[in-house]
Amino acid sequence: MDLFDKFDNLPDRYESIVSLGRNPFGVEMEDISSPTQVVIDGKKTILAGSHNYLGLTFDEESIKAGQDALAQYGTGTTGSRIANGTFKGHKELEKKLSEMMNLPTIIIYPTGYQANLGTIAGLAGAGDTILIDADCHACIYDGCALSSATVVRFRHNSPEDLDKRLSRLGDEDSNKLIITEGLFSMYGDTAPLKEIADVKRKHKAYLYVDEAHSVGVYGDHGRGLAEQDGVTDDVDFVVGTFSKSLGSIGGFCASNHPKAEYLRYASRPYMFTASISPATIATVLTAADHIEKKPELREKLWRNAKHLHDGLSELGFKLCSTVSPIISAEMPDQETAVRCWNLLLDQGVYVNLAIPPGTPKGECLLRASMSAAHSPEEVDQIIEAYAAVKRDVNKYRP
Ligand code: PMP
Repeated sequence: MDLFDKFDNLPDRYESIVSLGRNPFGVEMEDISSPTQVVIDGKKTILAGSHNYLGLTFDEESIKAGQDALAQYGTGTTGSRIANGTFKGHKELEKKLSEMMNLPTIIIYPTGYQANLGTIAGLAGAGDTILIDADCHACIYDGCALSSATVVRFRHNSPEDLDKRLSRLGDEDSNKLIITEGLFSMYGDTAPLKEIADVKRKHKAYLYVDEAHSVGVYGDHGRGLAEQDGVTDDVDFVVGTFSKSLGSIGGFCASNHPKAEYLRYASRPYMFTASISPATIATVLTAADHIEKKPELREKLWRNAKHLHDGLSELGFKLCSTVSPIISAEMPDQETAVRCWNLLLDQGVYVNLAIPPGTPKGECLLRASMSAAHSPEEVDQIIEAYAAVKRDVNKYRP
């Protein structure tokens, strides 16, 4: 018995992927000149596989704010929020996000991943029941594992299955926490939040929505899918991240619940880790301002999303959802997916390769995501690259 025995099947699996071309799990961005232009293998490449939905990573005001904060407050806080790691900026950002989300309590975490871990494990304990959409992100699963609650999965995007499973719990007196996402990151589909909110009310449960991919993307104020669907009052906890529309790193939990503030003292991934750096805080403050004041960014994102979705549909790719900023094309098998992913890079386009165990039902996907920063010409080039790949890949078919 060896500690590493469990890795025995990995070398073959790894080899079956990298032998087809590049290593998709560690692509080096050798240079990055804009939210949509990078250099990979010495070649100018269009980035069509990041979550930079509003294209704010190179926003001049955000960069300047970050530089000023770096000079004024130093490189890091070197402490937890509950010790020496709460600077003026952390409080300012919590206030800003509270206004942006129109929710009184905001708790910032170092990543979106930790926001989910900390909020779920902080809220749910022994005797409580968590009901999660089967396709929820890994960090929601990990948050459930970290809690001592009973975890019940319901069928992806099925309020009927959720209702059935809640009914099966009977009149049990346990607290029930329903967890789902706004925009799902693999297929680019969205949760039926209105129907889920109806089920929540029927069963007197709490509702928790991870809006990591939907803040800045959906709703008149960019608050997420719950805003767009008119159900913000039904959502007890919203979790978001700074690593997508806000173009930085960090995460948050937002709530209108009067006692949510106490999560700060019950959430280990909040208490036992250093807080995010002042420079990061400053970039997010500026980006949040843009989400509020520049709805044209959202409009541009949606124009680009429709452009790419229409283009790939016309080429005959099997897409996993209706129009959204995540446009996933289903591939027949892993080998074809890896080959197509390499061929797209040969054409100067980077998208994400999604293969098992990272996909919900073991599918293989080419996952593109759009940004407000893509020009219409870049979207055309992406479509042309997919067209070339479609022609080329047929050569490899037996
Ligand atoms: N929630 C969802 C739905 C995600 O897709 C991700 C990461 N892509 C996270 C949370 C974690 O966010 P972060 O990368 O900021 O840790």
